[in-house]
Amino acid sequence: MLEESHHYFQKASDVLDLSHNLREILLTPFRVVKVEIVTEGDKGDLQHHMGYRVQHNKARGPLKGGLRYHPSMDEDHAMALANLMTWKTAVVDVPFGGAKGGINCDPAQLSERELASITRRFVEQVKDVIGPTLDIPAPDVNTNARVMGWIMDEYSKYQGHSPAVVTGKPLELFGSPGREEATGRGCLYVLEEALKEQGKAFSDITVAVQGFGNVGSNAARLIAERGGKILAVSDHGGGVSNKDGLDIPKLIAYVNESKNRTVKGFPDADAFEGPEVITWDVDVLIPAALEDVITKGNAKDVRATIIVEGANGPTTPEADEILQKKGVLVIPDILANAGGVTVSYFEWAQNIQQFRWELDRVTEELSKIMRKAYKAVSEMAASKNVDFRTAAFVLAITRVGKAAVSRRHTIKGVRF
Ligand code: NAD
Repeated sequence: MLEESHHYFQKASDVLDLSHNLREILLTPFRVVKVEIVTEGDKGDLQHHMGYRVQHNKARGPLKGGLRYHPSMDEDHAMALANLMTWKTAVVDVPFGGAKGGINCDPAQLSERELASITRRFVEQVKDVIGPTLDIPAPDVNTNARVMGWIMDEYSKYQGHSPAVVTGKPLELFGSPGREEATGRGCLYVLEEALKEQGKAFSDITVAVQGFGNVGSNAARLIAERGGKILAVSDHGGGVSNKDGLDIPKLIAYVNESKNRTVKGFPDADAFEGPEVITWDVDVLIPAALEDVITKGNAKDVRATIIVEGANGPTTPEADEILQKKGVLVIPDILANAGGVTVSYFEWAQNIQQFRWELDRVTEELSKIMRKAYKAVSEMAASKNVDFRTAAFVLAITRVGKAAVSRRHTIKGVRF
């Protein structure tokens, strides 16, 4: 995965004609933390996990990025995802750098008490390198408001009341209204801008969504509310489709009640094998699960003409090239899923000021930022004659590079 995010960085750096040294400086993480987490399980057994936090670049502000709990979590994933966070915060121009981390655990196999003690032990190990002005974690795959609440509580034991150490918290623990749906809502806004450019409305489009967790379910719900027809949805359990459009509020309620939190078995729908969703016959595809799902193996069969990357890194570089040649508009992850970090920024700012915004204000400010970022990327794509992903990277690298260079008096002759 790291190789892939570097590939996109290098492609944009070629457009900018960046020197080798500057590329090295911008790619190298500021700090890599790896900690052992030993806890006691419910049956008195010893549980052993590894925790990671990669702090990539802090030229534009404190480090910011999610925490992922997944068996596949490792240093390579954290590095790649931290890297993406640096470019993402720059694309939407929120005053943060990029970080990412997580624990190589499987929450489905852990009780709530076990998960909480693993989380608290992790915080104990990294407490000196995170903080409201240092590095502010947030939810990602398999972590949620509840986990963020534990993090705030544990960190506050050492540093005093510190709600701004983490975002995506429960509302009653100084979370922001609108944070939970923010990434899906951001997907809605960039898709709306793309449709406008093509002279289309939501009522004209059909959509397929992979992943029905935080990002996928909120994006699907909001698009359906605006008149888009969601024909197919898949998750870790399988896929469900309905040619007249799935009833998304019902599907959300079904998943919330199902034992394994899956769409599998949803009535009023036909079942299919999950991966088929990528090549579904729709106008818009939203990958909102894990990385590397659009590959050179299936990219040629993609039928959607717009892809909104709700997930981080869903498209491999080979697949990206195939999609560009086919004329598919790929709205890249560092733009499409930046709604979450944007509302995290609002939450952090509210916490620091001990102030709370109403939901209307959050939604309005999110809309402004996402649409402005879309416009900036679209204009960059047109002016450099490049695809949207390269344009987003060019924009981000320019912003981060300018900040990095402005901070140093020793770098001479570097232009941006
Ligand atoms: P989540 O844990 O809430 O949901 C993940 C979804 O993916 C679930 O529906 C799960 O069933 C599905 N899934 C897992 N494995 C799958 C597989 N093999 N095939 C199909 N579906 C599978 O996670 P989330 O927060 O919605 O994150 C999803 C993606 O969005 C990740 O790439 C994450 O990094 C990215 N993202 C999340 C946020 C956020 O605010 N939560 C922000 C930016 C980016």
